[in-house]
Amino acid sequence: DISQLQALQPYLWTLPKTAHEERAEVLLYGSQPLLKSMDEKVLEQITNVATLPGIVGAAMAMPDAHWGYGFPIGGVAAFDAEQNGVISAGGVGFDISCGIRCLRSNLNLADAAPLLQQLADRLFETIPAGVGVEGTLQFTPQQLDQVLAYGAHWAVKQGYGDTADLEFIEENGCVAGAQPYNVSTLAKQRQQGEMGTLGSGNHYLEVQVVEHIYDQATAQAFGLHQGQLLVSIHCGSRGLGHQIGTEYLMMFVKAANQLGIHLPERELACAPIQSPAGQQYIGAMQAATNCALANRQILTHLARETFGEIYPHAVLETLFDVSHNTCKKETHEFHGQTRTLYVHRKGATRAFGPGHPQLPARYQTTGQPIIIGGSMGTGSYILAGMENNPAFASCSHGAGRAISRNQALKKWQGKELIKELKQQGILIRTRSMRGAAEEAPGAYKDVDIVATDTEKAGLARRVAFLKPKVCIKG
Ligand code: 5GP
Ligand code: MN
Ligand code: MN
Repeated sequence: DISQLQALQPYLWTLPKTAHEERAEVLLYGSQPLLKSMDEKVLEQITNVATLPGIVGAAMAMPDAHWGYGFPIGGVAAFDAEQNGVISAGGVGFDISCGIRCLRSNLNLADAAPLLQQLADRLFETIPAGVGVEGTLQFTPQQLDQVLAYGAHWAVKQGYGDTADLEFIEENGCVAGAQPYNVSTLAKQRQQGEMGTLGSGNHYLEVQVVEHIYDQATAQAFGLHQGQLLVSIHCGSRGLGHQIGTEYLMMFVKAANQLGIHLPERELACAPIQSPAGQQYIGAMQAATNCALANRQILTHLARETFGEIYPHAVLETLFDVSHNTCKKETHEFHGQTRTLYVHRKGATRAFGPGHPQLPARYQTTGQPIIIGGSMGTGSYILAGMENNPAFASCSHGAGRAISRNQALKKWQGKELIKELKQQGILIRTRSMRGAAEEAPGAYKDVDIVATDTEKAGLARRVAFLKPKVCIKG
């Protein structure tokens, strides 16, 4: 359990192996208080991940880690295809390519404040959010194939947003190797009415104000200043991604049985990267990633339209779009060697440092912008990638849940919570009071501690702290 953890450094912990245990090293990032408050299940899960074939380096848990399906959320693990490395559907997560698009505006809170209530009401009308809430767009399976193949490029071509956005999306808005044919008809059917929708619960469109700057030079490079309004859009690949995750998990369980792969638990079902099942999943996962990138592009467009109605000279530019449920093929220096690795980041964000060839020119000297969501009541952070990140260029993606949804329901009431937040100047709009209670700020870890620990652990450095002003909750 947690008490067996050994400190390697003040913000780095390991679980020593027992006598006959065969597995990779387990590393957990964060301060002692954060790790003490972490649920025990994380440790069990990340230790199981460490037993998977072909793992390179350690199985890692980021400071925001908490229990997830198979892999913990906040889990990072890299595999080598040439050494029988595996790909795991649970290691990517069911909301494939869930992530955050952050937009910076040319508005200051001081000027925008008188119309914020109107903005909140209009955004609530124009941004489809909630369980099973469909958008106004309907797509045929043929159209969806285009979405799955071309991602945000497709969306821009259809008139959703600008070409200028694409430079600031991971992989420029379209990932390679997407195979729409590896995605079932059922998955596509589920997505027909769900493009341009947020989804439920933890997903949101939030208007935020830059409250504090930690690093002026980097903030300037990012185009951020105190008092400025930003918009963060958190959502993923909706029904399509979930269906793909579900189907391939079952396929991997069967494949493992046939190949005689021992799974420490069913939820960790995986397939060798080079196997037909592994390759098929990768094609489907990439297609779902493009779906998520297109989805956030459409929502960006909807947000711009609504901002334009309320503030006629508003301009919203893309700061960055980062996914946090992915497995990406990347090259990393590992023990002095350049290796091609498949890095699973489940509830973890990619964090490329300065000089990385895949970053746009604008962020070459600063490192990439990283977005950490906190909660609808506390705040969020923008960080920057650092050189020598020890976790295959990964870091935290949120505050992370501290208590379960069920526990939260017993503790808070949605209606009261929203009233309290209103008194603090935070306008929440949601169709689900139950959802609001589950998402109570107190149900999440202290985002200030998570962001500080992320920095102290050398994963990324803080650039700005954001306060929520308007939150459209799924
Ligand atoms: P996940 O992708 O794991 O569901 O959520 C990412 C993180 O977003 C959570 O760990 C949580 O800290 C944060 N988060 C959840 N709801 C909200 C919200 O309404 N606003 C903000 N700013 N962050 C949130
Ligand atoms: Mn999600
Ligand atoms: Mn997410």
